[in-house]
Amino acid sequence: MTADLVVDGVTKTYPNGVQALRGVSLRIPAGMFGLLGPNGAGKSTLMRTIATLQEPDSGSIAFGTIDVLRQKDAVRRTLGYLPQEFGVYPRVSALELLDHFAVLKGLVARRARAEMVESVLRRTNLWDVRQRRLGTFSGGMKQRFGIAQALLGSPRLMIVDEPTAGLDPAERLRFHNMLSEIGENVVVILSTHIVEDVSDLCSRMAIIASGRVLLSGDPQSAIDALRGRIWKKIVPRDQLGAYERDLEVISTHLVAGRTAIHVMAPQRPDPAFEEVPADLEDVYFSILRSGDRQAA
Ligand code: ADP
Repeated sequence: MTADLVVDGVTKTYPNGVQALRGVSLRIPAGMFGLLGPNGAGKSTLMRTIATLQEPDSGSIAFGTIDVLRQKDAVRRTLGYLPQEFGVYPRVSALELLDHFAVLKGLVARRARAEMVESVLRRTNLWDVRQRRLGTFSGGMKQRFGIAQALLGSPRLMIVDEPTAGLDPAERLRFHNMLSEIGENVVVILSTHIVEDVSDLCSRMAIIASGRVLLSGDPQSAIDALRGRIWKKIVPRDQLGAYERDLEVISTHLVAGRTAIHVMAPQRPDPAFEEVPADLEDVYFSILRSGDRQAA
């Protein structure tokens, strides 16, 4: 059994005065955990803190018996991290660079290292292209390479920061399939601003904005809590402002060039509204709106 990751009361204010984390507490069990929030929410700050790359001002983080903020070496031995900005050396092959990373991770025995490198290349579907220079890889292949290096050393804690930004739909699907195979005994934290990444992959999630956790739990319960309260209507563009003034409009979409709004309300706002099943996007936008109201 892999232990939970427990984040308790973590705060961080940058020297420029930005309060990136304002008392973040989360319990993250093994499995895929989605950390969902808009740009600037504090996700990367939290991910870097868990990955022992920066210090919080206060709070504690434990991974089983490991005190993450004090026992950094122990964390690093069991951590796989794919940062938001993951650069590769374009002139070396996937195999060479992975071998190099494996040495840095402490895999010094040659045979064990070769086996580990082969295993992560196969798991990320890069075995056939292992001799190719990384500079020739597509965005999706680079992301899979990023996961391959994160998997070196069989981590129990994986952190994947904004992984699908910039991937085309086919690459994203391939990437999702790969992530979902990583295993049930690993804590995998997927940080993202893309709701579908979480709804496709994660059994547990948290929504974070302005450095605060606004919701945490399982996505389906959050969706169930909105049942019967989401209403949809196609509206003329120039009336959007009036709807937003009178009703709780939680999202607007263009559907074949027309504007569809989702409204949250206990009853049908007018007969032209149609009840729609809530989805995670409705949860996300309604939670963000309530967060804005609290902050205001
Ligand atoms: P996210 O990953 O959710 O986009 P970040 O953790 O990157 O959020 O950023 C949270 C806030 O902290 C933002 O307002 C960002 O501008 C600010 N921030 C992030 N890193 C730094 C830094 N090194 N120095 C100052 N401000 C920072």
